Amino acid sequence: MNYISTRGAGIGERHTFSDILLGGLAKDGGLYLPTEYPRVTADELTAWRTLSYADLAYEILRKFSDDIPAEDLRSLTHSTYTASVYSNVRDHESAVQITPLKTLGEEGGTTVSLLELSNGPTLAFKDMAMQLLGNLFEYTLAKQGQTLNILGATSGDTGSAAEYAMRGKQGVRVFMLSPHQKMSAFQTAQMFSLQDPNIFNLAVVGNFDNCQDIVKAVSNDHAFKAANKIGTVNSINWARVVAQVIYYFKGYFAATKSNAERVSFTVPSGNFGNVCAGHIARMMGLPIEQLVVATNENDVLDEFFRTGIYRVRTAAETYHTTSPSMDISKASNFERFVFDLLGRDPARVLQLFRDVEEKGGFDLAASGDFARVREFGFVSGRSSHADRVDTIRDAFKRYGTMIDTHTADGLKVAREHLKPGVPMIVLETAQPIKFGETIREALEREPERPAAFIGIEELPQKFDIVAADASVVKAYIAERI
Ligand SMILES: *Cc1c(COP(=O)(O)O)cnc(C)c1O
Repeated sequence: MNYISTRGAGIGERHTFSDILLGGLAKDGGLYLPTEYPRVTADELTAWRTLSYADLAYEILRKFSDDIPAEDLRSLTHSTYTASVYSNVRDHESAVQITPLKTLGEEGGTTVSLLELSNGPTLAFKDMAMQLLGNLFEYTLAKQGQTLNILGATSGDTGSAAEYAMRGKQGVRVFMLSPHQKMSAFQTAQMFSLQDPNIFNLAVVGNFDNCQDIVKAVSNDHAFKAANKIGTVNSINWARVVAQVIYYFKGYFAATKSNAERVSFTVPSGNFGNVCAGHIARMMGLPIEQLVVATNENDVLDEFFRTGIYRVRTAAETYHTTSPSMDISKASNFERFVFDLLGRDPARVLQLFRDVEEKGGFDLAASGDFARVREFGFVSGRSSHADRVDTIRDAFKRYGTMIDTHTADGLKVAREHLKPGVPMIVLETAQPIKFGETIREALEREPERPAAFIGIEELPQKFDIVAADASVVKAYIAERI
């Protein structure tokens, strides 16, 4: 398997899975994709139906990473996808399944269900990919005799998923910036209660934007970056995307009896990482009818899939919502889909994303390409705070199921795209406890709390308060590596 950039770099060169694993953007600013998507045969689809999550992960990842010896990959997927890691569940059988499918009920002539992706250590779907990344990083760094210092900024979800994935891993340190005293008590406790010596929490006196600016400033200091082996684990990382392909297959098998059936998925979306994996699963041959992109008030993606216009939002137009993990001004993985939509023409992708940088967007409405969006199965919708509250209330009343705000955005939009006889699978991206305030508003009761998280706010916390100054953060890192 060879990888190329969406903007053309690397064509005619060799880039393996391991080569791109530890890097970010391609050298021309594009994103990596395989030169072609591996196809799944009818026989494979039949044989995979009964596999455990770990074995299914092995079969799928093998097609994308033939530079990793088969036995090594098998042991990596088995140590990642085990019941003990995905144990924040309602019952033990669910832990064994890793991503259990929970049926809600019959609506619009079909069955609506939730694919639970948030039973991992931080109660959000980012664990699904990040846990694999932790093991892959440790494995690859040991092979190359290298170390890596991950620098990131978080307002909650991504940072904790990265820390729980990298804790205790050989050769890896994590330096995670978060705005001092601006995360919820629960999220703060999740991150700061980690006592592992390779995890460093930096509470920045400032806001999330200050944290992001510091990460950018440090990353732009190429000499510092190289000397201190600084890396990132953001959502454009290819291994994160490909790890998410697995649960689309798992969800399909759980919702169907034979491979003649088709299903639709609704994906609460921000940076387009999760639904991009759904697109790849479909390109591999998984019988997916629709990929429903659900956004909140930050509706960059909904606007594109309705109109063909992609318009990056300014900071003033980017809203803080009650589904905060979808609060984005642009969708960082979107370029991967555009590359496929344009028939894999890197020159046109380069031009369009130059337009994004120079003019803030592009318009495909008039071109024949936009019509092809439906051929790829994409439709979309948006949700508001009032919709979230209504949907949380409705799901609890009708089905006795408590859902989080992001999953509520998904369910709300899914209901606008039901097709009789085509099962609709809504991806559950977080557990309600992470967004307790809206649960209390909707249900006037406390969110369900998995046993492992009882009393977490009382645990001792390890963090250092730092000024919102890149040079202070650089000195902090340099002293500790
Ligand atoms: C990150 C996140 C999303 C958005 O996923 P993308 O891959 O960025 O589209 C949705 N819900 C939750 C809970 C998340 O943490």
